[in-house]
Amino acid sequence: MDDTFKNLESVFGEIIDLRRAAALLEWDERVCMPEGGVQAHGDMLATVRRLEHEKFTSRETGELLSEAKERVKGLDRDSDLHRLVTVAARDYDKATRVPAAFVSEQAQTVSAAHHAWVEARSKSDFSIFRPHLQKVVDLKRRYVAFFPEVEQPYDALLDDFEPGMKTSEVQEIFDTLGSRQVTLVQSLVDRPQIDDTVLTLPYAEKDIWDFGVEIMTSFGFDWARGRQDKSAHPFATSAGPGDVRVTTRFDASQPFGLLFGTLHETGHALYEQGLGSRWSRSLLEGGVSLGVHESQSRLWENLVGRSLPFWECFFPRLQKRFPAQLDGVTPRQFYRAVNKVEPSLIRVEADEATYNLHVMLRVELEIALLGGEITVADLPEAWNGRMKSYVGVVPDGDAKGVLQDIHWAIGLFGYFATYTIGNVISVQLWDACHGVEPSLDDQIRRGEFSTLLAWLRTRVHEHGRKYQPQEVVERATGARIDPEPYLRYLDRKFREIYGF
Ligand code: ZN
Repeated sequence: MDDTFKNLESVFGEIIDLRRAAALLEWDERVCMPEGGVQAHGDMLATVRRLEHEKFTSRETGELLSEAKERVKGLDRDSDLHRLVTVAARDYDKATRVPAAFVSEQAQTVSAAHHAWVEARSKSDFSIFRPHLQKVVDLKRRYVAFFPEVEQPYDALLDDFEPGMKTSEVQEIFDTLGSRQVTLVQSLVDRPQIDDTVLTLPYAEKDIWDFGVEIMTSFGFDWARGRQDKSAHPFATSAGPGDVRVTTRFDASQPFGLLFGTLHETGHALYEQGLGSRWSRSLLEGGVSLGVHESQSRLWENLVGRSLPFWECFFPRLQKRFPAQLDGVTPRQFYRAVNKVEPSLIRVEADEATYNLHVMLRVELEIALLGGEITVADLPEAWNGRMKSYVGVVPDGDAKGVLQDIHWAIGLFGYFATYTIGNVISVQLWDACHGVEPSLDDQIRRGEFSTLLAWLRTRVHEHGRKYQPQEVVERATGARIDPEPYLRYLDRKFREIYGF
């Protein structure tokens, strides 16, 4: 390797070290920091992030990248080196277009907005948050202006989370999903409802935790390269493929939330643990996009963890742990209970049939806000109107409506769509894997996941950020991101469960 690439490798290595350090500081803050550490943690994180940003956007990095771009010109466009330089140059271009003064102004605005949102939500009063949200939206408009080449303004926001994805593609996905999911949900609510009281009986936290650990292990989570802890909001993070951490939480009123949270975050973790060693500590480390990441968590949580073959294997084991609660219950009854469809107000608690509708509402509002078709003041009403027509329920206050998510308060616009993109991709991957491994359901019925994990490893995990999201999906499934398989999956599953 010549000097340019060697130097670049060492610069990227240090940048990744700083990003990993920031990830571990954030983990510490959310998992085990004593209250007195708030100030020191805030200072440390700000410093580490600033050093990382300065290093990455430095003239030295820019010059190395320009040289590297020249050197890779003769190489195969799909070669590792060509891809690495292309992705790095793209990241560099994005990072250097946004002035440092804008970044710090945004950090301050968002910090105040977050504070106001916490108060507004606790009082269920949008007016407290409104002026702050206006400032956040104004900032987003200014951010978009740094990328004048985009077709639609919203493309610039989406691209930060789903590289290469266009607003028009997202709108097409929702055009296909929206009305058909609304129709499906309407026919489901007309059916006799499933009794899921078995899920709300008292269960000991430790026993559910241990059951979750048993499943994580059989999924293939490597405990020598990861750990699980508790936090207020479950998340997964990593300091490279050798140190991947997940968290979960326990709420006695929904004891199985701990289990499904565990399965979800384990899906994220398996992706991070599966990164090819050649990309570790390089700029191609990590997941390619939030959508592809979410496809992994939803696949393990829902396509595996809410399937009948899975519960045929694991329900008897659960029953053994909880004989008092589960005596006389069949695997099928339990399977139906964990798949109950109930239109509700809160996205994070939504079932598979309604989830995308919650997302669609948010994406539509974001696009309309950015384009000026609605104002910040219109939001609560616009929210409630869409909730009524898409999900069929209306919140009795802002806390359970427009104020429920943290995203806008911390400046995340363009993020929500990735939840639906993840759902859509998860089924495409699932179908493709079934196509080449017809005995997959039988394997799951025996509690064996190694074939599924190996397939995901070679098709998705090991490539890190080498390919763009659309390419990952095309290479793995032969098709571009397409919502039809997801709709077929929902239809088949819920018609069978609800018997129509
Ligand atoms: Zn997730």
